[in-house]
Amino acid sequence: MIQYINLTIRGYCPKCNKKSLFLTRFKLNELCGNCGLVFLDNNDGIWFFLLVIDRAFFIFPLVVLMYFGFKPIYFIPIAIILIIVFIYSTPFRLGLSVALDYFFKSKSSK
Ligand SMILES: [Zn+2]
Repeated sequence: MIQYINLTIRGYCPKCNKKSLFLTRFKLNELCGNCGLVFLDNNDGIWFFLLVIDRAFFIFPLVVLMYFGFKPIYFIPIAIILIIVFIYSTPFRLGLSVALDYFFKSKSSK
């Protein structure tokens, strides 16, 4: 599983190891141009993982802040930082979602 994540977050196909995952920095290819592996499965898969990862991404810092005594005055700069991190981490989150999806699919098909 770790090897899949390691491949996809750098834009490589988890099946054939070709750099075919991203169309642009923020957009996934629908499928691998080399081996035909479907990255964007509309039925399930990566959107579920993406949702979970996104939630974790936003909720975790908030929980930490509340734990250390959250002050509303810090909300705006923290929100701006979160949005920047969020945009910056898009390829990472997309890659991670594809890796998890591929991992569970390849596991369940065995
Ligand atoms: Zn491939």
